[in-house]
Amino acid sequence: MPATTIARLRQRVQGPVITPTDRDYDEARAVYNAMIDRLPAVVVRAQDAADVAATVDYARENELPLAIRGGGHSVPGFGTVDDGVVADLSGMRTVSVDPARRVARAAGGATWGDFNEATHEHSLATTGGIVSTTGVAGLTLGGGIGYLTRGHGLACDNLVGAEVVTADGRTVKATADENADLLWALKGGSGNFGVVTALDFDVHPLSDVYGGPMVFELEHARALLEWYRDFIVDAPEQFGGFPAFQIAPPLPFIPEDRHGEPFIFFVACWAGPLDEGEAIVSRIKDVAPVVAEHVGPMPYPAINSAFDGLVPAGMQHYWKANFVRELTDEAIDAHLEHGPRVPAVNSTVHIYPINGAAQRVGPEEAAFGHRDATFAPVIAGMWPDPAQNEANIAWVKDYYAATAPHSEEGGYVNFAASDDHDRVRANYGVNYHRLVEVKRRYDPDNLFRVNQNIKP
Ligand SMILES: Cc1cc2nc3c(=O)[nH]c(=O)nc-3n(C[C@H](O)[C@H](O)[C@H](O)COP(=O)(O)OP(=O)(O)OC[C@H]3O[C@@H](n4cnc5c(N)ncnc54)[C@H](O)[C@@H]3O)c2cc1C
Repeated sequence: MPATTIARLRQRVQGPVITPTDRDYDEARAVYNAMIDRLPAVVVRAQDAADVAATVDYARENELPLAIRGGGHSVPGFGTVDDGVVADLSGMRTVSVDPARRVARAAGGATWGDFNEATHEHSLATTGGIVSTTGVAGLTLGGGIGYLTRGHGLACDNLVGAEVVTADGRTVKATADENADLLWALKGGSGNFGVVTALDFDVHPLSDVYGGPMVFELEHARALLEWYRDFIVDAPEQFGGFPAFQIAPPLPFIPEDRHGEPFIFFVACWAGPLDEGEAIVSRIKDVAPVVAEHVGPMPYPAINSAFDGLVPAGMQHYWKANFVRELTDEAIDAHLEHGPRVPAVNSTVHIYPINGAAQRVGPEEAAFGHRDATFAPVIAGMWPDPAQNEANIAWVKDYYAATAPHSEEGGYVNFAASDDHDRVRANYGVNYHRLVEVKRRYDPDNLFRVNQNIKP
């Protein structure tokens, strides 16, 4: 059989097939991180699973690398590739909810904003990312950390089924009963196994949460971090907040004369009974006086979009991350040395808690194997001006170097940087070898390699 040509691909798919000579090529090749400037041979804006299958066939038959794009947020730019094929699922964003079964289905290109809006209508929710523009698929396939992790596990722990276009162009189901090995691998093995065109999640009763950001002087950072490490060990699991080093953005709730200064923030989210929220959040305020706060009851989708304004598409990104079992005094020293030097208002350091329900899943039950970690700190460098790249990347690297000795060897695949390829084995941790076996079964020729790649 001759390989599919672009002309034949255009006949096969419903969505736009965009090549370098097309007017909208530059828009089609752009991803969220403006530092990524790649030139794919073709971007296919898939409309459905059949379009995805045609795109996979085209890449395989022409022996071209294939990038999968959902929300486009991958910091190392896994949603695009030089001289290859981009399967862009951003046109596939439907989310449907079955309130009786408490299951929600997201199409492969849906964002967390799409998901939360749809489930909120039924007063249901699941663990998802804290920025609404992030893709449901990309975030979930790597693990998925959010405000509800301690109560309901990672996003991947709530994944009960998926539809996947595999390397041979077939569409298969992955559930506990059908291709269970594939479902296992999708829960943390990232985009290595196929293009996921639909994801089914367990969703839980939740409408509003109590929380929001609180701002504290840096002189209280040590006390707050020490309090947090002790409190989070057995805090009620409906509590899902985290401390953050952050420059005060020009927001109305922060005194104008403090805008632009670095602080330690605490972002609280209480997903239990609302009338208990104030009491739990006031425990943080007992540690140190607040400079400013924007705390109260709010819809769950609102807290999950509270940071959106700080992180628009088109900025420069360089991130590093590790997992941490214990926030030791030495680790806190390292945070105190580097966190206050955060160089840009868009940059931040979040120290997410990933204990509670996420730790009740066994390390080999799902591909995400870091079940002994209590914290997932991320040093998220984000700034608008490419002229500032050197200084901002240096801040992330220095910070990371100082915290790495107090962290696990592996990090979170979703927060990995472009220079993190040598950490792939450690990032997949205890499950690496089993992931290789599943990879051999579903993608023996490594068609899906534009990711934290598991080599077959
Ligand atoms: C601003 C921002 C906020 C973030 N917040 C969080 C957070 O709160 N919690 C958290 O855990 N992570 C968070 N992340 C990290 C995020 O999980 C990863 O960047 C993730 O890869 C993004 O997925 P995406 O679909 O948006 O990205 P894309 O760049 O579109 O995809 C990234 C990779 O995911 C895989 N992928 C995406 N869609 C599919 C699909 N349909 N089928 C198969 N593979 C697919 C592919 O390997 C792809 O290359 C954040 C990232 C950013 C930039």
